[in-house]
Amino acid sequence: MTKVMNLLSGLCGLIVGVANSRSLACAIAQAAHHAGAEIALSYQNDRFSKHVHKIGKELNAAFVSACDVNNDEEIAALGEQVEKQWGRLDFLVHAVAFAKREELSGDFLATSRDGFRLALDTSVYSLVGLTRCLTPMLKLGVGAPSVLTLSYLGGERAVPNYNVMGVAKAALEAAVRYLACDLGPYGIRVNALSPGPVRTLSAAGVSGLRDLMGFIEHAAPLRRNIDAQDVGDAAVFALSSLSRGVTAEVIHVDGGYSKTGVPPFTI
Ligand code: NAD
Repeated sequence: MTKVMNLLSGLCGLIVGVANSRSLACAIAQAAHHAGAEIALSYQNDRFSKHVHKIGKELNAAFVSACDVNNDEEIAALGEQVEKQWGRLDFLVHAVAFAKREELSGDFLATSRDGFRLALDTSVYSLVGLTRCLTPMLKLGVGAPSVLTLSYLGGERAVPNYNVMGVAKAALEAAVRYLACDLGPYGIRVNALSPGPVRTLSAAGVSGLRDLMGFIEHAAPLRRNIDAQDVGDAAVFALSSLSRGVTAEVIHVDGGYSKTGVPPFTI
């Protein structure tokens, strides 16, 4: 029987979207490292360089490099680095999203054309661009090669203040299904995790996060908010061959909140 500790043993994975030690990408990198994977980390720009290099050192990362996912040349350079380092890729984690702060409060109706374009380009097209660039490497991947992205309930239901990011997550989940259909014939899986709210740099940009988390603590079937480690461990399952039959799927890591209809009457 496979030991849990070695679930990703011998696999090489690129994790895109680490900003700091609170990032979900960081928790996924830690969990993947502990499960035996060799990882590489990518971050947006110089602003995050120090934090991410420190994390990379702790996790013995094969490389740590900057890549602005809105820039095709930088995506191509990242792809070349993967090819040079490993000559193949067993998993890609996409943990990237952005919307202007002013789009994440008040009415969705007020969303600007610019804000809409930026949110969807950064949070959705980046998955397509990165996956396309890395497909030749993933085709050579071992185990049950896969791409994993991070969505949120706001893509399925209207969540106060999530606004344009909810529309981006709906598009992201559709992109997961289309990419899964394109890449399935090559044995490459594409899935999303949909975690409940966790306090991170990005989450802090969404107005009312504290109230939302306070509500979920009482309303979720598990009666708690999830944490980044819950996401990291679920990612190990999604990236490992234990989930080899799972693709085009959105796996909720939210204490069951998304499956409830009416919150407990005692709240
Ligand atoms: P985070 O701020 O730590 O991570 C977001 C990352 O996106 C950052 O590293 C940021 O630098 C990166 N990014 C933004 N624009 C970029 C660009 N142009 N090029 C490269 N990188 C860019 O926050 P997080 O909460 O860990 O977010 C990771 C993912 O998880 C996001 O997709 C987010 O929507 C999703 N998610 C988060 C929560 C939550 O509550 N924290 C819940 C569900 C889903």
